Amino acid sequence: MELRIAVVPGDGIGPDIVREAVSVLKKVCEVFNHTLVTETVLAGGAAIDEYGIPLPESTLDACKRADAVLLGAVGGPKWDNVESSKRPEKALLGLRSALGLFCNLRPALLYKQLKSACPLRADIIGEGLDIMVVRELTGGIYFGEKGKSEDGESAYDIMAYSKPEVERIARKAFEIARKRNGKVTSVDKANVLETSRLWRATTEAVHKEYEDVELNHLYVDNASMQLVRNPHQFDVILTENMFGDILSDEASMITGSIGMLPSASLREDSFGMYEPIHGSAPDIAGMDKANPIATILSVAMMLRYTFGLSDEAASVEKAVYDALEDGLRCADIYSEGTTLLGTAAMGSAIAARIR
Ligand code: NAD
Repeated sequence: MELRIAVVPGDGIGPDIVREAVSVLKKVCEVFNHTLVTETVLAGGAAIDEYGIPLPESTLDACKRADAVLLGAVGGPKWDNVESSKRPEKALLGLRSALGLFCNLRPALLYKQLKSACPLRADIIGEGLDIMVVRELTGGIYFGEKGKSEDGESAYDIMAYSKPEVERIARKAFEIARKRNGKVTSVDKANVLETSRLWRATTEAVHKEYEDVELNHLYVDNASMQLVRNPHQFDVILTENMFGDILSDEASMITGSIGMLPSASLREDSFGMYEPIHGSAPDIAGMDKANPIATILSVAMMLRYTFGLSDEAASVEKAVYDALEDGLRCADIYSEGTTLLGTAAMGSAIAARIR
């Protein structure tokens, strides 16, 4: 099979971690006899430096031509003071909306080898954790009208959702729950927000097509508390854009480190954009300290969701598992008695375990 990937390293640690993920992908293609065709393009701060804008047309075109996009991260202090319409983050929002990627999958999986990196008590963690956050990605407050008064004394961001937007993401969540443990927890703030009341009513209506799946609702404040009190109650968490952004970072921490968590952004067809959930970590950029595992596991998600190559995806996941089992760790997940590796060495160790 030919795998056509647009590679967008971005800023900060982006180039460091994407380099390792691409070498793992090359190894997968070698072992399983696929052809890898990559096109590397700029977005975020790197594109601002080169073209004066965070998302050049040429980058968007390359992404549209590809089967899938592999992205590192964008942003950093260098661009913190550029005007808001040109900030590096605009590249991400621009890509998600131009490519129609409305469904963001963020698995939070605690590996048994990393139990000691999880800040929760052992009796709460039990035998490990496996939660899938399904976050709506192209609606809500991040995409609503925004503005500020001329004197800078007031500002607003509008949160809006339509029924079809909620229906399509709810369907994705129910479909995914069917392949997992059959439970969806929909998170909203229906006691306060009109958009949440629409969200809850629409989710209930879609649920009628999926009665084999259990559905319950939680307010977002309660959900954030329950995630650390009793995370085992969750299988699939379905939520809107901003709540999903916050809850998935919280879920990431209970799995030990933000450096471990991949994500997929999907639409109805097989196209997808794959990226770690963390940012560009400017504090460790270029220092060979970043953990590349989140990006490598994003490649596994790409193989599974865009290309339908589940054996290849499983080989990447197994290689990560084996590297952890062999005691290999980057600094963010290091504990006494394990072997500390830099970004490049961890990437090579995982690539070497692909078989
Ligand atoms: P961050 O995720 O970049 O970093 C938070 C902390 O986690 C830092 O201490 C960092 O060193 C650490 N960290 C992150 N990824 C790591 C990895 N792979 N290995 C080891 N440690 C890791 O979040 P931030 O500091 O809030 O943001 C930094 C920049 O990234 C900002 O410009 C922000 O706008 C941007 N950002 C981009 C994205 C994205 O591109 N998807 C997401 C979030 C933040």
